[in-house]
Amino acid sequence: MNIVRITMILCFITLNFLSNSCSTTSFKAKYRRLIYQHDSISTELNSLNRELESTELELFKTLYELEFLRNTIVKAEADSVVHFYHNYIFNFRRPILALIEPDLNSPFLFPLTVEKIERNWQCPVLWGRLFYFDYNHLGIDLHAREGDTVRAVYDGVIRNYEPANGYGELVAVIEHAYSQKWKDNVLASEFISIYGHIRKEKIRDSTAALQWKNGDRIQRGEIIGFINDDDHNGDGGEHLHFGIRLQTADASKASDGGRWLRGYDNRKGDQLQYFLNPVELYGRYIRFTFDPIDRN
Ligand SMILES: [Zn+2]
Repeated sequence: MNIVRITMILCFITLNFLSNSCSTTSFKAKYRRLIYQHDSISTELNSLNRELESTELELFKTLYELEFLRNTIVKAEADSVVHFYHNYIFNFRRPILALIEPDLNSPFLFPLTVEKIERNWQCPVLWGRLFYFDYNHLGIDLHAREGDTVRAVYDGVIRNYEPANGYGELVAVIEHAYSQKWKDNVLASEFISIYGHIRKEKIRDSTAALQWKNGDRIQRGEIIGFINDDDHNGDGGEHLHFGIRLQTADASKASDGGRWLRGYDNRKGDQLQYFLNPVELYGRYIRFTFDPIDRN
């Protein structure tokens, strides 16, 4: 009786042990298989990421070239007034989205509140007309809505706060002194920032209007104006024209007379030496997209 019982117990223990070791072995095998799968997926993911990066770079280069070619074509056709306006309206005004990799050390504030942050880039997203290679547009046009707040990008002195041809009711110019060179040589120690197509009131005909006048000191981040509406901004289409000129206001006036703050309509390109692509203040282009978003 006892022997039978002991044998049964021993059998039971042995079977149990065997089945346990079997399942342990299969778990280990499964574990090793999963680790292997994980490693190979990681490797594949890494190579896909590298491929994506290089494709994005290629895309960026292609769009850059496309932009250049488009400008060349528009310039060539500009001899004909009809063609020029056709292109101006249908090509130049077509919104372009530019994603920017930010320079986090930039001391300069972006003049508009950035509404759209794509992916997890903490970057300004420009939507509008770019700084043109053919020198016809020496600033960037930032898409905005009527009444949007425009802020001084750096401390300075207001050197223009009045209407100007092509800018509508108000174009503001602030003169800055910045003691260091910015990104090697792109910024002189003195420069002006230009804010076109703005107005003094957030809401048209309200009594609360900004009271700035020439000679006033303004701090980085203070409100310089508000986006003007279609009918009064001198250009149509609500936007901010934002330009950077690498001279003082007086030197600019001496160089260009009546055109000193104009960021476009210069077909000879002789002003380029004074104008900086404002994007340089904030980082660098990552990529462009044409016709990116529904305006509404
Ligand atoms: Zn513009």
